[in-house]
Amino acid sequence: MGSELTYRGHETQSMADSYSPKLKKPWPAVTRVVRYMLKEQRLVFILVGIAIATVFFGLRSATTISSGRITDAYSVSEAVQMMNPRRSVYPTGFDSFNLGGKIPLGLKRKGLRIVVTGGAGFVGSHLVDRLIARGDSVIVVDNFFTGNKDNVMHHFGNPRFELIRHDVVEPLLLEVDQIYHLACPASPVHYKYNPTNVVGTLNMLGLAKRVGARFLLTSTSEVYGDPLQHPQVETYWGNVNPIGVRSCYDEGKRTAETLTMDYHRGAGVEVRIARIFNTYGPRMCIDDGRVVSNFVAQALRKEPMTVYGDGKQTRSFQFVSDLVEGLMRLMEGEHVGPFNLGNPGEFTMLELAQVVQETIDPNAKIEFRPNTEDDPHKRKPDITKAKELLGWKPKVPLRKGLPMMVSDFRQRIFGDQKNIGATATTTSTTE
Ligand code: UDP
Repeated sequence: MGSELTYRGHETQSMADSYSPKLKKPWPAVTRVVRYMLKEQRLVFILVGIAIATVFFGLRSATTISSGRITDAYSVSEAVQMMNPRRSVYPTGFDSFNLGGKIPLGLKRKGLRIVVTGGAGFVGSHLVDRLIARGDSVIVVDNFFTGNKDNVMHHFGNPRFELIRHDVVEPLLLEVDQIYHLACPASPVHYKYNPTNVVGTLNMLGLAKRVGARFLLTSTSEVYGDPLQHPQVETYWGNVNPIGVRSCYDEGKRTAETLTMDYHRGAGVEVRIARIFNTYGPRMCIDDGRVVSNFVAQALRKEPMTVYGDGKQTRSFQFVSDLVEGLMRLMEGEHVGPFNLGNPGEFTMLELAQVVQETIDPNAKIEFRPNTEDDPHKRKPDITKAKELLGWKPKVPLRKGLPMMVSDFRQRIFGDQKNIGATATTTSTTE
């Protein structure tokens, strides 16, 4: 039976090859399809459909770009608006703010599921405001060591917002698309007490690997230590004391960067690294010992501003909304980094004290104190890379940003009870 079947097959094949009653036509299948389409007028309908779709999506893309914050960062007045704690933060529709990346222009953007570790902190809570306003669903993970519920309370009741009290040194499983990893005390006063950099980062990288999320590490200008190169470019490897009082933070963040790159190279995790320079703004912790918060609080309380050392050491101060814009551009863009995110405007501590005097009280006094160990002598970011690859640059100069922080501090220090729920009260996450 089997051999019979085999034999018939051969016979059919050889007949077909040797004899055909019809003339062979080239491309018989194609001509049949074309004839069918013309007859049924289907081709005409298909062509008209393609033309309409092209015109429609072309117009949508043009509108999105022209409404745009895609290439040009926001202005100072927009930053002021963003800092208004009473503004509505629950838009329901599509926000045309598209940062590029994987989301095609012109198509309705699906809200992402995003976790922000340290999201109840100073920088984290401002980032959460922007993500919620953009239409994303945000899970804040915070242990409230330096974060504070007041910073995110205005989102309570929003179905797109969740808050989990959790320390990132313990593992956590969440289904998310993106992870902004900010959790880490950033003030020298706090991080010397509670260093959490390495284990927290490892856990969050593990989560990113497991659920296939994109991971953004907020690293720091501290990876440059007391820099021997000025301004600091991302390619500079730094000058860090590995056993000093600041090293738990500096070396911790350097290790966090190493882990991030290892997960990227070894496990294919999509990662982004930001090196954040000194940042200030509303919701900063009043008594965390940072220089801007100290000077502002001291001047408001009519206490002398404490300048450490000779006050000639420099820092570059970035307003928080500029930083948040940079972080979001980095996350949505296609570049791993690291990227310096900071304001290149450089001030000595004495110059900063002078700006605080101009803003709050021209008679505010200065008091010199001994400096802390291993204090970097100067710091100023080179932001060429972020300008070129992220289309980002800071927009808010110190003299414009400081008054916004001062009004927030004034309210909190002098207890304007009416606004306590609306404004944020503390804290720091990164630089
Ligand atoms: N500083 C100061 N007075 C203060 C607090 C800090 O002069 O009350 C100095 C500090 O010595 C350092 C600079 O301000 O040179 C920035 O300190 P901060 O703790 O704000 O940030 P970091 O050292 O991490 O850049």
